[in-house]
Amino acid sequence: MCYIVDVNNLQKEIYQTKKLYRDVFNKVKEALDSQIASLKSSSLCNHCKQDCDIDFNKIDIFQEFPKGCRYRFWQESVLDLLENRISKDILDKVSLIEKRRQCFSCKMCSSCCKFATSEYSYDELKKRAQDGDRFSKDFVSVFVPYKNVDEAREIYPEYVDMLEDTFGNLSGIYFYHCPKLSDDGLCSDYENRPSICRDFPNNPLVVLPPKCSFNDWKQEVEITSLMLNAMIDIIGFYKDKLKNLI
Ligand code: SF4
Ligand code: SF4
Repeated sequence: MCYIVDVNNLQKEIYQTKKLYRDVFNKVKEALDSQIASLKSSSLCNHCKQDCDIDFNKIDIFQEFPKGCRYRFWQESVLDLLENRISKDILDKVSLIEKRRQCFSCKMCSSCCKFATSEYSYDELKKRAQDGDRFSKDFVSVFVPYKNVDEAREIYPEYVDMLEDTFGNLSGIYFYHCPKLSDDGLCSDYENRPSICRDFPNNPLVVLPPKCSFNDWKQEVEITSLMLNAMIDIIGFYKDKLKNLI
């Protein structure tokens, strides 16, 4: 499921600035909180006679309860819900999104070879690659930077305009191209192309070139992918907090 988790900062920023991700996040959190509340109702205090003033109506899932308290059982059931049922549901949905991708095929427009973006400069990417980051390693094995935004704009004005419209400006976005693309628009090292080329696009939340034939797939699964991404963020936070309490 890593392709959902690994949504890169640039893509996430786009959704966040568009408010869409925040709205989806709030809805997902609301739905999860309601599941947590219904588990609370099935974990009522059994009056264990401990001297406590815990009020059912006021307790919070992240509260610290005394050993043996019935509400610890509530926290355990929530952890089980997150670690098992919800995580399995996420995996199933990610798998459906991946399967759906196979219904679309690359039209070999070569846009993704002519034009790639990153929030990292070339030096930063090389440093990340040296430090063991797999994606950066693959990326610098094929892509080299455009001299400047103007050079990138000459190659793909619609894409640069789209990014400019989305962000308001292009500061902090770096543009790259692959020198292995031959003049006939084909890859000159097709058999040895790295996985970032073979699997592109493996994440429906990435910004795709306007000409890319996977835009239809992206549109179809985008909201579900955002929900899954939000769910992963939320359950990660809840799980860490609950594990420290139980
Ligand atoms: S290695 Fe080939 S497939 Fe990958 S970006 Fe370069 S030209 Fe495109
Ligand atoms: S941009 Fe999309 S359609 Fe064009 S070559 Fe890349 S994957 Fe294929």
